Amino acid sequence: MEKIQTAIIGGGAAGLMLATSLKTSGKTVVFERGERVGKKLSATGNGQGNITNLAAEREEYFSFSGGAALSREIVARYNPQSLLSFFEHAGLLLQADERGRVYPAGRQASALTDALRFLAAKRGVELCVKSRVLDLEKQGQGFVLSVQTDENPARKIYAEKVVLCTGGTVARSFGTDGTAYALAQKFGHTLTPLYPSLVQLKADSKELRALKGIRVADAEVTALFSERAGGELHGRSIKVKGDIMFADYGVSGDSIFRLSAFLTHRIQDGVTISIDFLPEFEQAHIFAALQRKRETFPELATGELLCGFVNNQIARVVMKRANGDLRAAARSVKAFTLTVTGHLGLDLAQVTKGGIRMDEVDSDLQSKKQKGLYFAGEILDIDGQCGGYNLQWAYSSARTVAAAIDKEMEKARGQV
Ligand SMILES: Cc1cc2nc3c(=O)[nH]c(=O)nc-3n(C[C@H](O)[C@H](O)[C@H](O)COP(=O)(O)OP(=O)(O)OC[C@H]3O[C@@H](n4cnc5c(N)ncnc54)[C@H](O)[C@@H]3O)c2cc1C
Repeated sequence: MEKIQTAIIGGGAAGLMLATSLKTSGKTVVFERGERVGKKLSATGNGQGNITNLAAEREEYFSFSGGAALSREIVARYNPQSLLSFFEHAGLLLQADERGRVYPAGRQASALTDALRFLAAKRGVELCVKSRVLDLEKQGQGFVLSVQTDENPARKIYAEKVVLCTGGTVARSFGTDGTAYALAQKFGHTLTPLYPSLVQLKADSKELRALKGIRVADAEVTALFSERAGGELHGRSIKVKGDIMFADYGVSGDSIFRLSAFLTHRIQDGVTISIDFLPEFEQAHIFAALQRKRETFPELATGELLCGFVNNQIARVVMKRANGDLRAAARSVKAFTLTVTGHLGLDLAQVTKGGIRMDEVDSDLQSKKQKGLYFAGEILDIDGQCGGYNLQWAYSSARTVAAAIDKEMEKARGQV
C-alpha cells in the first residue's frame, strides 16, 4: 500500500492553503473529488476573488458550539496582513476597496487558485483530482484512505496525518454536498444544526410582484430580530448599507447577503427587515417636499407624488401602503418593512452556518476524538460575514493545522 505523511482531503481554499504551508519533508497529497482543484475559490467574489477583509480581526465569527473565541484567536494569529504577505510572496498584487474587501489587482479569482496550485507544486505536493475519498479507517498510528478514481474504485493509501478540508454543504455544484461529514462522524464527531448563510431571503408580501426586478443601490437596510440569551429572547437590530434587489420570492443583493449571516437560524423567532430607500434625506424633509409637490401640482394623483423621489414602482407601492397619507408615506419610504419568512436554501447560499462541533477539536484544530485527524475551513462550525471573512477563515485555519502538523512531525522525528 502506498504510504504518505499527510493526506489533505478536499482541494478547495483551505486544502490548497494547507498544501502550500506544510514545511515538513514528508509526502503530502491533496485528494480532490472534482475535475480540478480550487473550483469554488475561482468563483468567489463574483469571479473577482474577495480573499479577505481588513476588518477580519475585529469582527465576530459565528459558532453554535462555542468556537467563536478560538476562531478569533486563530484569525488574529494568521491575520489579513499575514494573508496579504502570503499572496504577495506568491506573486500577486492585492488591492482593498472602501469596505476593506481585498481582491487580486487583476480582479480574477482564478489568479488565487493558480498561485496556490503553483506554490503547492513547487513544494512537491501531489494534487490528485477526480479522487474522492469515500472512507477513512484507523490503522496503527495512521489512517487508511479509500479513494475512488476513474481507474480504481478503491485505491488504498496509508497516511500518518489526515486533514479534512471538505467544506460545508452549500453550493453543491462545487463538490460540497455534505457527504464528507460522514468521514468525521465515523470517528464520533457530531454536527451542529446546519443553515445556509450569505443567501437570498424570502419575504411574505403581495407587493413583491410589483417590485420584482427593481434594484436599489445604496439603500440602508436594518434587520430586526430576536436573540436568545439566558433562555430569553432579546430584540436586536443590525444596519447595513448596500444594494437590494426585489424578486417575486423576496429580496437579494449585497445588503441582504450581508444581513443573512445574522438571520437564517433566527427566522422562526421572527425577523423583519426595514428598508430606508432615501438614507440621505430626513423624514421631515421628504414630508415637506411631498406637501410642496401636492400644492404645486394639485392635478397629480396622490399615488404618483413619490415618483421622482424613488423608483416609480417603489413610489406607488409605498404610497399605497400609506393610503395616500403624506406623513405616513414619508415614514414608510424610510422604513419599508418586510417580514422574512425563509431563505432560498443550501444550494444557492455561499457559506454553511454550522458544521463539525468546535468543542470536539483542540486549539490546533486537531480532533479530540482521534489523534492525527485535523480539520480546516468551512467543514467546522465557524462562519463569517460577507466580504472576505470566510476565505480568511479558510486561510487562518489551514495555517494553524500546518503549524501543528509540522510541530508533531518534528517531534516524532526527534528533531526537537
Ligand atoms: C459563489 C460563491 C462565492 C463566494 N465568494 C466568497 C468571497 O468572495 N469571499 C469569501 O471569503 N468567501 C466566499 N465564498 C465562501 C468561500 O468560498 C468558502 O467559505 C471557502 O471556499 C471554504 O473553503 P474550504 O476549503 O473549507 O471548502 P471549499 O472551498 O468548498 O472546498 C472543499 C473541497 O472539498 C472537495 N471535497 C468534498 N468532499 C470530498 C471528498 N470526499 N473527497 C475529496 N474531495 C472532496 C470539494 O470538491 C471541494 O473542492 C463564496 C462561496 C461561493 C459558493
